[in-house]
Amino acid sequence: MAKVFIPRERRPGETRVAATPETVRRMAKLGLEPLVEAGAGEASLFRDADFEAAGARLVADAAEAWKTADVVLKVAPPEATNEAGRLKPGAVLIGFLAPHRELEMVRLLAAGGVTSFALELLPRVTRAQPMDALSSQASIGGYKAVLLAAWRLPKYLPLLMTAAGTIKPARVVVMGAGVAGLQAIATAKRLGAVVEVSDVRPAVKEQVESLGGRFIELPLAESGEGQGGYAREMGEDFLRRQREIVQRHLAAADAVITTALVPGKPAPRLITAEMVRAMRPGAVIVDLAVEQGGNCELSQPDREVLENGVLILGPSNLAAAMPHDASLLYARNVFALLQILLDKEGKLAPDLNDEILAGALLTHGGTVVHKPTAERLDLQEVPA
Ligand code: NAD
Repeated sequence: MAKVFIPRERRPGETRVAATPETVRRMAKLGLEPLVEAGAGEASLFRDADFEAAGARLVADAAEAWKTADVVLKVAPPEATNEAGRLKPGAVLIGFLAPHRELEMVRLLAAGGVTSFALELLPRVTRAQPMDALSSQASIGGYKAVLLAAWRLPKYLPLLMTAAGTIKPARVVVMGAGVAGLQAIATAKRLGAVVEVSDVRPAVKEQVESLGGRFIELPLAESGEGQGGYAREMGEDFLRRQREIVQRHLAAADAVITTALVPGKPAPRLITAEMVRAMRPGAVIVDLAVEQGGNCELSQPDREVLENGVLILGPSNLAAAMPHDASLLYARNVFALLQILLDKEGKLAPDLNDEILAGALLTHGGTVVHKPTAERLDLQEVPA
């Protein structure tokens, strides 16, 4: 029976867990042996007793479990020496592995002969939707970002007719309408705000309008859509014109949610310090691109910045602020991926020619398979 280990997350601020009693039960049904570190679900309100009742064995000694596990399910990247470095050759690791940042950890995975799948690399094809952890967690980020802004705003979001007179609805600008941005638009609309949206992919306009947002038109000489439905990197000339156009919308905004990203590149700089200073005092900016350098020049990871009365928040892991449902969805995403690693008899037999597995594969057979990471590590790439 393949041992599937679910450790307690140890990164500061990481409250999620990679399996829940629901997915543990499904693992046991498939003939897998789930091992859950004691307390792994505590921060996300899944109790040890519920994991046990679902068929998991509770583990007190995580170090030993890392050594003997056939599969490890993680949320955040494992620690290099004490976690990744302990895995046995041929073991499978699934999680957000942040390969661009965690180079030493990747090196140890490759050196140890570990087969690792990074959820950030999962191709966004239709068949991969149940496994799309990037989407399930980004959606939480978009939702929470609006709630965060609403909480810190010195005013209402909705239009209100009261005995004391009328309150005008707040104006919210959303920049970047991918998964997080669309959820931010939907949430701000539900709360009654007037929502304006900027994005560079033309396909987004219809989605924005169907949610009740107003699309800010940009003079696009060519589509801002690049490979795989993602945005491409726009030149500085374009970004300057975009900033000019968006500026007057920002000047009238009460809240701004930024989520704009370009795969493999630093986040586009959409709001300069000067633009912040032209905004209304009391306005709130929530920059969800902060980990990739930020869409706003002034945002800082997990710090509050106050500039000319404008509050700038840069939460780096908002999904962890809603750990129960975040874990519920994440665990289902990971379980869906685990399922396609099994053959018809329920044995661990990943078909690395499967486009989903091939796309998400980071290390295998002693090498770093993901090219950009291999190049970063300056390793010789050998095809799997
Ligand atoms: P992302 O996180 O890479 O980027 C967020 C948004 O920022 C994108 O909409 C992008 O166009 C936008 N952006 C980039 N540069 C910008 C700029 N200068 N100004 C304004 N906005 C800018 O995107 P994502 O949320 O991961 O989604 C990417 C695409 O993948 C979307 O089309 C999404 O619908 C699609 N998707 C498809 C599936 C599927 O299964 N088919 C699943 C999830 C997402």
